[in-house]
Amino acid sequence: HGLARDVLAGMRDIPDFPINGVVFKDFTPLLLDPSLRDRIVADTVHRRQGRVDVVAGIEARGFILGAMIAHALGVGFVPVRKEGKLPSAVHSRSYALEYGTATLEIHQDAVSNGERVLIVDDVLATGGTLAATCELIERCGASVAAIELVLEIGSLQGRDRLERYDVSSILTV
Ligand code: IMP
Repeated sequence: HGLARDVLAGMRDIPDFPINGVVFKDFTPLLLDPSLRDRIVADTVHRRQGRVDVVAGIEARGFILGAMIAHALGVGFVPVRKEGKLPSAVHSRSYALEYGTATLEIHQDAVSNGERVLIVDDVLATGGTLAATCELIERCGASVAAIELVLEIGSLQGRDRLERYDVSSILTV
């Protein structure tokens, strides 16, 4: 539909970033356009209003989108960060990347028992990042209400690793 078309037109492909052979999907041009930005946020709000207690955004692009969505929903925001950045006691989860490993962390007291968490990020690739984030939220005793993305790279089959969850993206390429 119209939003997916405009998101597709607004994103750009950056060849050989962050390493040779990878084509990076860059969503930063979307952020420059206030009305498109508002439509992206409104699309999620329309689906999730009243159904979530808190938004968790994944460092770093998930902070930008997640904070806007949390504001629009009128709920709290929780940062899921790379290793060593959060100051208080954390739960920590390491996972495999296409090349190497990464670790994500959440404050142990950031979400509480039974809370319904909406996870937000820009791009779903292999699904490792989101699977790790879901586990961190569940370790806090909260539940993953849904996952919202701008773009999904279908060929990498990230959705297969997230079968248990309600995953929405504006656009699949
Ligand atoms: P995954 O764990 O393989 O699904 O990778 C998803 C994570 O890496 C997300 O946090 C994305 O922001 C980031 N990522 C992977 N590929 C891209 C891309 O092409 N553009 C932007 N972010 C990407």
